[in-house]
Amino acid sequence: MSSKQIQTNTEEETLKIAQRLANLVKPGDVITLEGDLGAGKTTFTKGLAQGLGVKRTVSSPTFTIVKEYEGQIPLYHMDVYRLENSDEDIGFEEYFNGSGLTVVEWAQFIEEYLPNEILTIHFNYIDEHSRLIEFKPKGSHFEDIVSKLG
Ligand code: ADP
Ligand code: MG
Repeated sequence: MSSKQIQTNTEEETLKIAQRLANLVKPGDVITLEGDLGAGKTTFTKGLAQGLGVKRTVSSPTFTIVKEYEGQIPLYHMDVYRLENSDEDIGFEEYFNGSGLTVVEWAQFIEEYLPNEILTIHFNYIDEHSRLIEFKPKGSHFEDIVSKLG
């Protein structure tokens, strides 16, 4: 539909785009991050946290499934990799309908719980310092946001 691709050539450029996106989201928004290991998913989440004014350092939630950070609105960072082959519901609805921004890595494992309106961001490794970041909005709210991204 109205996907947008942006290439970044440094980690800082990726952080900047994420910060801009953080200033466009609203409470209850859900963003899913796709891409291989090292593609930049957690780096992007750090940028979102910076944009939301989160003071704590964001680290990968691999062993906790969800990490919550306090910002202008809360940030819920989920890595649901360990829920592959499990239909465990850790209370996703409450996060997705809550007052924060939810960011999900490995969202394909909880597909049945995801809301209809969502922003999927796919990270493609180009070379050591470059990534092609594809923004795939579902629903008018995220289409609007992506159109403002640059
Ligand atoms: P993932 O969470 O997808 O496994 P990470 O964000 O943890 O990936 O790691 C990405 C790595 O790639 C980091 O070490 C980061 O410094 C590096 N990197 C190099 N160039 C970029 C770029 N343009 N955008 C994002 N990360 C980059
Ligand atoms: Mg990661």
